[in-house]
Amino acid sequence: TKWVYSFGAGHNEGRADMRNLLGGKGANLAEMASIGLPVPPGFTVTTEVCTYYYAHKHTYPEDLRGQVSEALARVEAAVGAKFGDTHKPLLVSVRSGARVSMPGMMDTVLNLGLNDATVDGLAAASGDARFAWDSYRRFIQMFGSVVLGVDHHRFEEIIEHVKLDKGATEDTELDATDWHRVVAGYKDMVEEVTGKPFPQDPHQQLWGAIGAVFGSWMNPRANTYRRLHDIPADWGTAVNVQAMVFGNMGNDCATGVCFTRDPSTGENVFYGEYLINAQGEDVVAGIRTPQPMAKERSKPGEKSMEEAMPGAYAELVQVRATLEKHYRDMQDIEFTVQQNKLYMLQTRNGKRTAAASLKIAVDMAREGLIDQTEAVKRVDPKALDQLLHPTLDPKAPRKSLAKGLPASPGAACGVVVFSADEAETRAAKGEAVILVRIETSPEDIHGMHAAKGILTTRGGMTSHAAVVARGMGRPCVAGAGSITVDYAQQVLSAGGQRVQAGETITLDGATGEVFRGAVAMIEPKLSGDFATLMEWADGVRKLKVRTNAETPLDAETARKFGAEGIGLCRTEHMFFDPARIGAVRQMIMAETETGRRAALSRLLPFQRQDFVDLFRIMAGLPVTIRLLDPPLHEFLPHSAEEIEEVAADLGADVAAMQRRVTELSEANPMLGHRGCRLGITFPEIYEMQARAIFEAAVAIGKETHKAPVPEIMIPLVMTKRELEILRALVDKVAQEVFAETGYHIEYLVGTMIELPRAALTADAIAESADFFSFGTNDLTQTVFGLSRDDAGKFLPYYTEKGILPKDPFVSIDVDGVGALVEIAAEKGRKVKADLKLGICGEHGGDPASIHFCGKAGLDYVSCSPYRVPIARLAAAQAAL
Ligand code: ADP
Ligand code: MG
Ligand code: MG
Repeated sequence: TKWVYSFGAGHNEGRADMRNLLGGKGANLAEMASIGLPVPPGFTVTTEVCTYYYAHKHTYPEDLRGQVSEALARVEAAVGAKFGDTHKPLLVSVRSGARVSMPGMMDTVLNLGLNDATVDGLAAASGDARFAWDSYRRFIQMFGSVVLGVDHHRFEEIIEHVKLDKGATEDTELDATDWHRVVAGYKDMVEEVTGKPFPQDPHQQLWGAIGAVFGSWMNPRANTYRRLHDIPADWGTAVNVQAMVFGNMGNDCATGVCFTRDPSTGENVFYGEYLINAQGEDVVAGIRTPQPMAKERSKPGEKSMEEAMPGAYAELVQVRATLEKHYRDMQDIEFTVQQNKLYMLQTRNGKRTAAASLKIAVDMAREGLIDQTEAVKRVDPKALDQLLHPTLDPKAPRKSLAKGLPASPGAACGVVVFSADEAETRAAKGEAVILVRIETSPEDIHGMHAAKGILTTRGGMTSHAAVVARGMGRPCVAGAGSITVDYAQQVLSAGGQRVQAGETITLDGATGEVFRGAVAMIEPKLSGDFATLMEWADGVRKLKVRTNAETPLDAETARKFGAEGIGLCRTEHMFFDPARIGAVRQMIMAETETGRRAALSRLLPFQRQDFVDLFRIMAGLPVTIRLLDPPLHEFLPHSAEEIEEVAADLGADVAAMQRRVTELSEANPMLGHRGCRLGITFPEIYEMQARAIFEAAVAIGKETHKAPVPEIMIPLVMTKRELEILRALVDKVAQEVFAETGYHIEYLVGTMIELPRAALTADAIAESADFFSFGTNDLTQTVFGLSRDDAGKFLPYYTEKGILPKDPFVSIDVDGVGALVEIAAEKGRKVKADLKLGICGEHGGDPASIHFCGKAGLDYVSCSPYRVPIARLAAAQAAL
C-alpha cells in the first residue's frame, strides 16, 4: 500500500480532490504545488495510516518507515540539507490535517530536527545565532507542550525569569546568549517534568510528533468536536511533514494569514494580517499586533505589507488571483516570507458570513469565475434568513441579561410590556415594544403583531410563540428559562437584575441572547446583490413560491419578497380581531341556526373586506383561502373571570356561557370537532365564508376588470363524501352570488390533505377536488400520532439521542409523511392529470423539505412571508 504522498519540488503525488486520503491541508498543498505556486517540499502520511493505527493497537504498517525515509530523502535533496546534519540541518514542520479542518487536533510543531548540535549548524548556515537559538527554544516549547504534554506555563515562567534577570520587557530584546539560557532552562525543566531528557535524535522527534498527531485524533476535545459536527470517527487524520521556511530570520521575513476577499462583507479586497520577523502562530497569538495586508485597509500608525514588502506583496497578489481562478472560490491562505521570497503554506475555501457569501457568489459570477447557476448553488438558503432582518451591529457595546432559544431570527429593541393589549396600545402610540410572556397563545396574536420582538420564558423551537413569530417575521427568543416574569409586579428578573415594564431591552433572535438597554443595529438591504441572486434563482426553479398570509401587511411583505400568490389564508386569524370576536362569540353562543345566521351576517362584511384587501394586493395572483379550521372553543374565554367579563360585553348570561364553554371543551381538540367537521355540522359558517369570498372577488372583478381566481380550500377532509357535500355548498353559494350580482368569476375548490386516510384515498377525493394542498403540520401530527403542542417534552430528547434524525415539524419526514405525500400526489393525478398540488405549513419554508417537494412533483410551496426568498433559492437549488 502507498502510505506516503510527496508534494513540492516538482514531485506532486496528490491533488485537491484527494482530501479523503490526504486531508484537506495535504491535498491542497499538493494542488498548490502542482499549479506552480511556491510550496516548501514535504510529504503527507495518509488518513489510512490513522485508521490502521487505531485498528492495530497503536502500531504502524510495516512498510511505513521505509516510505517515510524515502520521502524524507526527496525533501533533503530538494532543499539541499540533511535531517540531523550538523552543518546544514533540514528542519521540518509536522502538521495535522483531517478532511475538514478540526479544532481539537494536535497543534503544529515547527523547527523539528533541532538539537544541541544542529542548532550550531543552523546558526552557521544562516549566519544568525539569535535566529538559530530562538528557533530551538520555540521547538522545545512546542514539542514539549504538544507532544510531551508539559504545561505551557512552565515554559513561559522560564522566559520571564530570563527577561527579569536582564531587565528586558520584550522578547525582541533577548539576544542569542539569552535564548541559549532559555534553552538550557527548558531542557532541565522538561527532564524534571517527564523524567527523561529532551529527545535529541531528530528521527525520534519526528516519530514522536507523528504519533502525537494520530493520538490527538481520539483526544476528548477532538471527540467532542466530531460529535457536535457529525464527523465520523473513522475518517482519521493525515500528517503533513514539510520543510521549514523561516519568517523569523530578520526584517525581510514575515508570516501571515489572509483571505482573498473580506470574509465579513465579501468585498473584493485582500484581507488579512501579517507580522514581520515572526513565525507560525505569532500572528494569532496576540504577542505583537499584526499589520494589515492592503494599504487601503491600513489605519494610521499601521504598516501594510503592501508598503513594507512591496516585492513579496506583489507576488502574493498574483498568487491570490491564481488561487481564486483555480479554486473558483474565496480562499483562506497562510504564507511565510523568507528573505523576501514568498512561500505558500496552506489554502482552503474560506468561511464567511451570510452577507459575504451572497456578495462573493454574485461578484464571482459577474467576474466570470463561476456561472450563474453555480452562484445560485453557492449560497445556503438558510443563511439568507440572517439577511432579511435587522441584525445587531457586531461592534456595538452590549449588556447581557439572559439567553434563550434562537426561535426567530433578527434583532429587535423596544420597551418591555407584559400583555398583548398593552403591546397593542403602546405600539399604536408609535412606541417600539417587546412583548414578554411566560408563553403565548392565540389570544396574544394582536400583541405579537404589534410588538417588534417577542420573548418567552417557556416553550421550545416549535412553541406557539416561535412558530407564530417566524411566520410574522418577528424576532423571537423563546424559552429563556433563567428569566422569571412577575405579571402582577410588572417586572422580569434574571441573574439578579430586574427590568420593569417600560424599560428597554434588545433581543437577538438569531442567537437567543437578551440584552439590557438598546444595542445598535444594521438594517437589511434587499436590493443589489440580493435581488440579483434571486433573479438568477427564479430563472432556474420550477416550483412556484406562494406565501401564507391573512393580513394585508403580510401579503404586501410577501409580494415584496417575490411571492407568486397566497397558498394559505387562515380565515380564523381574521376572527380574533377585537371588532369581530364579539360576533364570533355570539355565533357560538347561539342556540339555533337562526341565531347563528344573525351573528354570521354581522361577520360577513368584515370577512368580505378582508378578501377585497387581499385580492387587491395579490393583483390577479392565485389566493388559496382555507375555510374555518380550529375548534370553536378557541374563540371562547376560559377562566371564570374572563367568562364573566365576556358575558357582560355580549349581554349574555354568565351561566349559559359557562355551560357552552364546558360543552365545547374536548379531550383532544386536535382530533376533535374542527376543520370540515364544522362545515358539515354548521353549514351556515362555511356558507358565510364562501359568500364573503365570492362577493369580494366579484367586487374586485368589477373594479379592475380582472377578476381573481379564488381557490377555496376545505380543511381536514377524511372522506370523499365530506368534500362532495361541502363542494356542493360552495357551488350553490357561488351561483347565488353570480345571480345576485350578474357577474361570473372562475374559482377552484380543493382540499387539504392532512389526514393519512385522505392521502390513502386521494384518488376518490380528487374526483371532487381541483387542487390538493398538503397540510404537512397536521399530517405530521397524525402520521406520527404526535401532538405538536406536547412534543416539546420529549422530542428534543429524541433528536439529541438520534432516535429521530431531526424534528419532523421542522423538516419533513421523507420516509413516512413524504411517502404519503407521494402516494396522494400519484393517486390524485391519476384521476385528474392537471390537479394542482402544493404544500402549506412550516415545511414550505424549509430548504430540505422544499427539495423533497421538488422531487415529489408538486407545483408550489407556500411559506411565511419572510421565508419566501429562502424558498425561492431552495427551489432553485432543488431544480439543479
Ligand atoms: P493550523 O491547522 O492550526 O493552521 P498549520 O499546520 O497550518 O496549523 O500550521 C500553523 C502555522 O505554522 C502556519 O500558518 C505557518 O505559519 C506555520 N508553519 C507550518 N508549517 C510551516 C513550514 N513548513 N514552514 C514555516 N512555517 C510553517
Ligand atoms: Mg493553518
Ligand atoms: Mg391543518
